[in-house]
Amino acid sequence: MDSTINKMFFDHITNMEKYCGYEKDVIGGGRYVAAEGFGHELFNFQNDDSKCYGYTAPWCKINLKKISKDEISKDVLGEYLDDVLVIFTCEGKNGKRVIAGFYQNARVYANPVNDGRSSRIYNGEFIPYNLICDADNAILISQNDRDFEIPHTNSKKNSGHGQSNIWYADKNIDSTIRNEALQYVGNILKSNISDEYKYSLHNENKTYIIVSTQQIKRSREARNECIKLKGCYCNICGFDFQKTYGDLGKDYIEVHHITSIGELTTSKGYEGTDPAKDLIPLCSNCHSMIHRKNPPYKPNEITI
Ligand SMILES: [Zn+2]
Ligand SMILES: [Zn+2]
Repeated sequence: MDSTINKMFFDHITNMEKYCGYEKDVIGGGRYVAAEGFGHELFNFQNDDSKCYGYTAPWCKINLKKISKDEISKDVLGEYLDDVLVIFTCEGKNGKRVIAGFYQNARVYANPVNDGRSSRIYNGEFIPYNLICDADNAILISQNDRDFEIPHTNSKKNSGHGQSNIWYADKNIDSTIRNEALQYVGNILKSNISDEYKYSLHNENKTYIIVSTQQIKRSREARNECIKLKGCYCNICGFDFQKTYGDLGKDYIEVHHITSIGELTTSKGYEGTDPAKDLIPLCSNCHSMIHRKNPPYKPNEITI
């Protein structure tokens, strides 16, 4: 991950599958969830007009000064910081804390925001939020693949997530865990999944669910194989980034999944990807056009 990332914190939330509204069987979440049957994080990965509005437990209280020494900004909604990486953790299958997903470049308010947004009314109640993130910067890991553990500690002497739902990981002792988590997040962002999710996300009006680390590795290999087979230029219009942009465009191309990403994120996953049949290198224009319907057009349906 970009080593300039210095604004981040961990937020422990209920383990839900999609965070796009009420779900029947959720894991963890504490007393409130046990009593009410849902937590306020239920919309954290809902695509709400291309944004995600997130809740940090409990009650959206964040100490911005612990995230950054930067000057704190203020608008009508309150005090905030921009460009924060928010890593969500939840209780995993074995009872340990695991990373559930993250917001990249989020705006974080110190206190709950109430803008009366109707999309956040649930059960007659406004669900508060304090995080705002572009939907395509909100990445949720599929529930079965949440396996990156974040240690939990009750001792000040050890590093790890403590009793609070918020962990700033701002002490020297925390740097190892912090860096490992950043690396995990960075590997997800570097994978070619990012090409696909930025296009498929808005059309499907949902947040993109990624697959396991192993599948990310496999998808990167498949991507490289596809470019080797089909060339580093757009296989629809012939655009070559290097020819137009010189060195800046060298090795740049987007890789589209002819087999829809939805089909790939099932149990079969990227393991089943055939770079010759399932993938195609495209320029950003052709890639946008091909995603103008869902499921996407087939490459031979696009004429220029
Ligand atoms: Zn093209
Ligand atoms: Zn695509």
